[in-house]
Amino acid sequence: MSTSPRPDATFAELGLPVALVQTLRNAGIEKPFPIQAATIGDALAGRDVLGRGPTGSGKTLAFGLPMLTRLTGASAKPGRPRGLVLVPTRELATQIERALDEAALSLGLRVASVVGGAPIKRQADRLARGVDLLIATPGRLDDLIKQRAADLSDVMITALDEADHMADMGFLPQVTRLLDRTPKDGQRLLFSATLDGDVDKLVKRYLNNPVTHSTAPAEASVTTMTHHLLYVRDKNIKRTVATEIAARDGLTIMFVRTKHGADRLAKQLRGAGVDAGSLHGGKAQNNRVRTLAAFADGSVPVLVTTDVAARGIHIDGVSLVVHFDPPAEHKAYLHRAGRTARAGEDGVVVTLVTDEERKDVAAMTRKAGVQTDGVEVRPGDRKLVEITGARKPSGIALAAPAPTQVNAPKSANGGRPRRGRSGGAPASEAAQGHSRGAGAPRRERPAGESRSRKPAGAGGHARSGDTPTNSRRRAARPAAPAARRNRSAN
Ligand code: ADP
Ligand code: MG
Repeated sequence: MSTSPRPDATFAELGLPVALVQTLRNAGIEKPFPIQAATIGDALAGRDVLGRGPTGSGKTLAFGLPMLTRLTGASAKPGRPRGLVLVPTRELATQIERALDEAALSLGLRVASVVGGAPIKRQADRLARGVDLLIATPGRLDDLIKQRAADLSDVMITALDEADHMADMGFLPQVTRLLDRTPKDGQRLLFSATLDGDVDKLVKRYLNNPVTHSTAPAEASVTTMTHHLLYVRDKNIKRTVATEIAARDGLTIMFVRTKHGADRLAKQLRGAGVDAGSLHGGKAQNNRVRTLAAFADGSVPVLVTTDVAARGIHIDGVSLVVHFDPPAEHKAYLHRAGRTARAGEDGVVVTLVTDEERKDVAAMTRKAGVQTDGVEVRPGDRKLVEITGARKPSGIALAAPAPTQVNAPKSANGGRPRRGRSGGAPASEAAQGHSRGAGAPRRERPAGESRSRKPAGAGGHARSGDTPTNSRRRAARPAAPAARRNRSAN
């Protein structure tokens, strides 16, 4: 059936070319993670693969490295990519592009991403120059095909990342239309932290005798993640508690149900003196990019977002995830939670639960297979501080929305130039830049280690966030070498 599993194999032993292994090593990626050890051999052998691993387990490289390897040695014709990765969100597309671009470069391959919200003409031009591996959100790729800027008949290998989410978001008709445009005998890889429901239909229709590699059960299985339910009596107390949590030290993501809710909470946090950005599907793409970059570089330490950021997004050093509004269902819980405790790091996940939500939330976490304890908390509570590192916010309101505030004194800590082959922080510094485990006071950073290092962790985000505002930031700081690991990590 499949190649025999080799849990201890090195990247080279799995069959990846020397140049690629060297590039990975330079980026601090030395040993395959389990999902990579399990799937790379089969994917390299040309098999269709179904891969399921927990959040943060390294699925991007699991499908990306064999794809690049198999594409090596030939070159795409204008408008005709040879490899295709379909993803549900724009942010995820750019992130995957960044995670693979050094590796692609080392193999002489060209990678690009096409997503909605960015100028389509530029993407068409990029495609016309030849792209070996294309990363795309379904809607935009569909548009490009309609404009005859893209043709999928040369695609020999396709990966679907977060396939179940694409299904949940109603992208299936587009995804199947796109898959129908790729050659029938092409290779297909399908990766997700959860594989069920409509994804099964995709698998039956488009995967040929696939090997399934599952390195974890569907339930919560990230051992470095701890879960708590925080019982707040009502919505008012919930808001005050959330503000104290947001004032903690470290990067925090807060998930809310609606776009309006995200804007409202972010505004409330800024009003209380906590710098927070809001990210959701109703924002312009350049705003989304800026918000994410400011969060990743630590200059805006709180991200308030909808489920648009629940899947796939990897930001180094997110030590706390808050379900401000409980998620709709258990899968969303797991994906939201999976923004922390990634790649073996520690992370804390809390859900704010009002009295009337208790029953539903209990059922949902049970379904998610999560071990939780529930504690009643009030503002200023000792328990609240212990679990989340909550603090009293300054109460001094911050002015405009965070992403446009890059000239505020606070960003002196933040926006460090990153991308640029010559700039950036030394890699060793970058590696420490992750404020891991800042969840509670007992796990605070050692003295002297401050968020100011985090910018290096933002390595990758700079490129797509390269706006005039960012250049201003850059000008304010001395240039230093970008961290390679973080560049590909993000
Ligand atoms: P997933 O898609 O499973 O949620 P990602 O592919 O986003 O996870 O990877 C999470 C993080 O782990 C990224 O920062 C990535 O660079 C890092 N990573 C992946 N594989 C390895 C490895 N073999 N060694 C070290 N770090 C890795
Ligand atoms: Mg992923």
